Amino acid sequence: MRQTVDVLIAGAGPSGLLLATALKKLAGPALEVLVVDGAAGAATSGHRTSAIAPAPRNMLETLGVWQRIADKAQPVLRMEISDSRLDDAVRLPQLHFDALGSAHGELAHIVFHRDLDAAVLERALQLGVHVRPSNAVDFASGVSVVCVTCADGPEVAARLLVSADGSKSLLRQRAGIKSLAWDYERVAIAATIGHERDHDGVAVQHFLEPGPFALLPLTGRRSSLIWTEHPAAARKVLELSDADFLSEVLLRAGHRLGDLHLIDRPVIFPLSFMMARTFTAPRFALVGDAAHRVHPLAGQGLNLALRDVACLADAIFDQAALGLDIGAPEVLRSYEQMRRFDSVVSAASVDLLHHIYARHGAVASQVRRSGMSLVDRMPLLKRVLRAEAMGVTGVTPRLFKPPQVVM
Ligand SMILES: Cc1cc2nc3c(=O)[nH]c(=O)nc-3n(C[C@H](O)[C@H](O)[C@H](O)COP(=O)(O)OP(=O)(O)OC[C@H]3O[C@@H](n4cnc5c(N)ncnc54)[C@H](O)[C@@H]3O)c2cc1C
Repeated sequence: MRQTVDVLIAGAGPSGLLLATALKKLAGPALEVLVVDGAAGAATSGHRTSAIAPAPRNMLETLGVWQRIADKAQPVLRMEISDSRLDDAVRLPQLHFDALGSAHGELAHIVFHRDLDAAVLERALQLGVHVRPSNAVDFASGVSVVCVTCADGPEVAARLLVSADGSKSLLRQRAGIKSLAWDYERVAIAATIGHERDHDGVAVQHFLEPGPFALLPLTGRRSSLIWTEHPAAARKVLELSDADFLSEVLLRAGHRLGDLHLIDRPVIFPLSFMMARTFTAPRFALVGDAAHRVHPLAGQGLNLALRDVACLADAIFDQAALGLDIGAPEVLRSYEQMRRFDSVVSAASVDLLHHIYARHGAVASQVRRSGMSLVDRMPLLKRVLRAEAMGVTGVTPRLFKPPQVVM
C-alpha cells in the first residue's frame, strides 16, 4: 500500500536528519516527515571530526541537539596559520585569528561526527520524525506529488523529495542534474592524537608542500589530525608503526604539545570537489554533500550543509504557515536563490585557497608568507574573514539566529 507524507528525505546523515528535525520543530504535527536510509541508525564509523561555526551552532541549540553534545564539543579560541617547509626548524604562525573580540566566545567548536549523528537521530525520533531503513532508488515527479521508489518495496508519495544522500547521490543522477567535479589528487590522513600538554583551544594549520596539515583541538588533551598528502605517500604513512607515525607527526607539528600518543589509528579519505549545476528540479531539492563537496582545508563542508538545511527549512516553513503547497516551484526557487550562488562562492574560495597553497617552490612560499603577514596586520580584513568563517555574514536564515530570537 502507498504511504503518503509531506516531505520525504533520502539520507540520514547530518543534513537529512537535521532538516527533518528542523521541520518537525518548526511545524510540529502539521508536517509529516519521513527519512529513508539503508544505513539509518548504524553507528557512524571512523573518527571524522567537524568544525561547527557559531551561526550553525545556534541552529543546533534551537533544535535541542546542541544540549546533547555540548560537553563533548571543544571550543576553538584561536587559530594559527603558517606556511613552512618540512625542514624548517620552527613553524611560526604568519596569521592568527582570536575569538577574543568576536561577539561569540569561540571561533568554532570541534565535534566528532559520531556524537553529532547520534544526538541528531535521538532528537529527530523524539520530535516524531519517521525513519525507514531503506534506500530511495528512483522517483517520478507529478503535478501535485512526487512518487518515490524505495529498495524495500512500498512506494511513497510526497509533496517534496529532498536528496540528502551524500556526494555520490543516486537521486541527483536520477533527477538528471549534472555536476562539476574533480579530484584533488590528494588524500587526507585523519587520526586522533593524545598529547602531554594542553592545546589551550588553539587550532593550528601548517601549509606544507602536499597541502594543509591541521591539528584541531578536542576535549581533554586530544587533537584531531587532518594531514593532506599525495596518495602514494599516504599509503606508506598508513604502513608505519605507531611510533614512526608519531615521529612524522612531530616533524610537521613541532613540539609545543609535548609527547604524543595515538588514540585512533590513521585512516585516509580522498579529497575531491563537486558542485551540482542546479540544486532543484520539480518537487526535488538537493542539500549537503549531495549538492556540493569541498576540500576540508577551511572546515566548511558541514557548515555549508547546515546552511542549506536552515534555508530550505525557512522556505518550506514560510509556505506551510500559509497552508500552501510546500513542493511548489516558488519554494524551490527561493531555496535555489538563497543557496546556489552562495555555495558556488564558498566552494570556489576554498578551491582557490587549495590552488594557492598547492604551488611549490621557495618564491611561492615567500609570497604566501608575506601575504599572510600583511593580512595579519589588517584588523578590519581579519574581522571580515573571521565573520565569514563563523557563518555570521550574508542573509541569516531563521535558524541561524540566536535561539532566544527564534523561539
Ligand atoms: C574525512 C572527512 C573529514 C571532514 N571534515 C570536515 C570538517 O572538519 N569540517 C566540515 O565542516 N566538514 C568536514 N567534512 C565534510 C562533512 O563530513 C560533510 O559535509 C557532511 O558529512 C555532509 O553530510 P550529509 O548529510 O550531506 O552527507 P553524508 O554524511 O554523506 O550522509 C549521506 C547519507 O545518505 C545515505 N544514502 C546514500 N544513498 C542513499 C539513498 N539512495 N537513499 C537513502 N539514503 C542514502 C548514506 O547512507 C548516508 O547516511 C569532512 C568530510 C570527510 C569525508
